[in-house]
Amino acid sequence: MDTQRNTKQKQFILAILKEADRPMSINEIYAQLVNQLPKIAKSTIYRTIDALLGQSLIDKYHLTDNEVFYRIKADRNEHKHVIICDDCKKVFDLPACPIHAIEDAIVEEGFIIKDHQIQITGLCKDCALHHK
Ligand SMILES: [Zn+2]
Ligand SMILES: [Zn+2]
Repeated sequence: MDTQRNTKQKQFILAILKEADRPMSINEIYAQLVNQLPKIAKSTIYRTIDALLGQSLIDKYHLTDNEVFYRIKADRNEHKHVIICDDCKKVFDLPACPIHAIEDAIVEEGFIIKDHQIQITGLCKDCALHHK
Protein backbone atom coordinates (compact mmCIF):
# COMPACT_ATOMS: atom_id res chain seq x y z
CA MET A 1 0.00 0.00 0.00
CA ASP A 2 1.48 3.37 -0.95
CA THR A 3 1.48 6.29 1.43
CA GLN A 4 -0.85 8.41 -0.63
CA ARG A 5 -3.62 5.83 -0.62
CA ASN A 6 -3.05 5.34 3.07
CA THR A 7 -3.51 9.08 3.65
CA LYS A 8 -6.69 9.07 1.61
CA GLN A 9 -8.18 6.24 3.69
CA LYS A 10 -7.28 8.09 6.89
CA GLN A 11 -8.97 11.24 5.65
CA PHE A 12 -12.10 9.37 4.61
CA ILE A 13 -12.38 7.61 7.98
CA LEU A 14 -11.77 10.83 9.91
CA ALA A 15 -14.44 12.58 7.82
CA ILE A 16 -16.95 9.79 8.54
CA LEU A 17 -16.23 9.91 12.28
CA LYS A 18 -16.43 13.69 12.32
CA GLU A 19 -19.74 13.69 10.49
CA ALA A 20 -21.18 11.02 12.82
CA ASP A 21 -19.99 12.84 15.97
CA ARG A 22 -20.49 9.68 18.01
CA PRO A 23 -18.61 6.41 18.50
CA MET A 24 -18.84 4.09 15.49
CA SER A 25 -18.08 0.41 15.14
CA ILE A 26 -15.90 -1.00 12.36
CA ASN A 27 -19.05 -2.32 10.65
CA GLU A 28 -20.65 1.13 10.67
CA ILE A 29 -17.48 2.75 9.35
CA TYR A 30 -17.21 0.07 6.68
CA ALA A 31 -20.85 0.55 5.59
CA GLN A 32 -20.17 4.23 4.87
CA LEU A 33 -16.64 3.93 3.56
CA VAL A 34 -17.58 1.34 0.98
CA ASN A 35 -19.72 4.01 -0.77
CA GLN A 36 -16.61 6.11 -1.30
CA LEU A 37 -14.00 3.38 -1.70
CA PRO A 38 -15.88 0.36 -3.09
CA LYS A 39 -12.81 -1.89 -3.06
CA ILE A 40 -11.85 -1.25 0.56
CA ALA A 41 -11.23 -4.36 2.69
CA LYS A 42 -12.10 -4.54 6.37
CA SER A 43 -8.49 -5.48 7.15
CA THR A 44 -7.41 -2.17 5.60
CA ILE A 45 -9.88 -0.32 7.81
CA TYR A 46 -8.48 -2.06 10.89
CA ARG A 47 -4.95 -1.08 9.86
CA THR A 48 -5.95 2.51 9.20
CA ILE A 49 -7.80 2.70 12.52
CA ASP A 50 -4.68 1.42 14.31
CA ALA A 51 -2.61 4.13 12.66
CA LEU A 52 -5.13 6.81 13.69
CA LEU A 53 -5.10 5.49 17.27
CA GLY A 54 -1.29 5.65 17.24
CA GLN A 55 -1.51 9.29 16.19
CA SER A 56 -4.01 10.04 19.00
CA LEU A 57 -6.51 11.33 16.45
CA ILE A 58 -9.26 8.96 17.55
CA ASP A 59 -10.28 7.16 20.74
CA LYS A 60 -11.29 3.56 21.28
CA TYR A 61 -14.26 2.54 23.41
CA HIS A 62 -15.54 -0.80 24.65
CA LEU A 63 -19.18 0.14 25.01
CA THR A 64 -20.74 -3.28 24.55
CA ASP A 65 -19.40 -6.79 25.05
CA ASN A 66 -18.91 -7.64 21.40
CA GLU A 67 -17.96 -4.47 19.62
CA VAL A 68 -15.28 -1.83 19.82
CA PHE A 69 -16.23 1.73 18.91
CA TYR A 70 -14.11 4.60 17.64
CA ARG A 71 -14.65 8.33 17.96
CA ILE A 72 -12.73 11.30 16.61
CA LYS A 73 -10.96 13.39 19.27
CA ALA A 74 -11.39 17.17 19.46
CA ASP A 75 -7.64 17.35 20.12
CA ARG A 76 -4.85 14.94 20.94
CA ASN A 77 -5.06 15.55 24.68
CA GLU A 78 -8.78 14.99 24.90
CA HIS A 79 -9.59 12.22 27.37
CA LYS A 80 -13.22 11.27 27.51
CA HIS A 81 -15.36 8.33 28.57
CA VAL A 82 -18.78 7.71 27.14
CA ILE A 83 -21.69 5.40 27.76
CA ILE A 84 -24.17 4.29 25.15
CA CYS A 85 -27.83 3.39 25.62
CA ASP A 86 -28.39 -0.33 24.93
CA ASP A 87 -31.60 0.47 23.11
CA CYS A 88 -31.45 3.74 21.13
CA LYS A 89 -27.62 3.91 21.03
CA LYS A 90 -27.64 7.52 22.20
CA VAL A 91 -24.27 8.50 23.62
CA PHE A 92 -23.62 10.30 26.90
CA ASP A 93 -20.32 11.73 28.13
CA LEU A 94 -19.13 10.82 31.59
CA PRO A 95 -18.45 14.01 33.56
CA ALA A 96 -14.89 13.04 34.53
CA CYS A 97 -12.36 10.23 34.52
CA PRO A 98 -11.93 8.64 37.95
CA ILE A 99 -9.25 6.20 36.77
CA HIS A 100 -6.17 8.45 36.85
CA ALA A 101 -6.07 8.63 40.63
CA ILE A 102 -6.18 4.84 40.85
CA GLU A 103 -3.54 4.51 38.15
CA ASP A 104 -1.03 6.55 40.12
CA ALA A 105 -0.92 3.88 42.80
CA ILE A 106 -0.26 1.14 40.23
CA VAL A 107 2.40 3.21 38.46
CA GLU A 108 4.21 3.53 41.79
CA GLU A 109 4.41 -0.27 41.78
CA GLY A 110 6.24 -0.04 38.46
CA PHE A 111 3.31 -1.04 36.29
CA ILE A 112 3.30 0.61 32.87
CA ILE A 113 -0.23 1.57 31.88
CA LYS A 114 -1.04 1.69 28.17
CA ASP A 115 -4.75 2.34 28.14
CA HIS A 116 -7.88 2.08 30.24
CA GLN A 117 -11.58 1.70 29.59
CA ILE A 118 -14.76 2.31 31.52
CA GLN A 119 -17.74 0.20 30.52
CA ILE A 120 -21.15 1.05 31.90
CA THR A 121 -24.16 -0.52 30.22
CA GLY A 122 -27.83 0.36 30.58
CA LEU A 123 -30.74 2.36 29.26
CA CYS A 124 -31.21 6.09 28.89
CA LYS A 125 -34.10 7.88 30.62
CA ASP A 126 -36.41 7.73 27.57
CA CYS A 127 -35.80 4.06 26.84
CA ALA A 128 -36.11 3.14 30.52
CA LEU A 129 -39.64 4.65 30.45
CA HIS A 130 -40.66 2.47 27.52
CA HIS A 131 -39.37 -0.62 29.27
CA LYS A 132 -41.66 -0.22 32.27
ZN1 LIG B 1 -32.09 5.07 24.87
ZN1 LIG C 1 -10.05 7.72 31.73
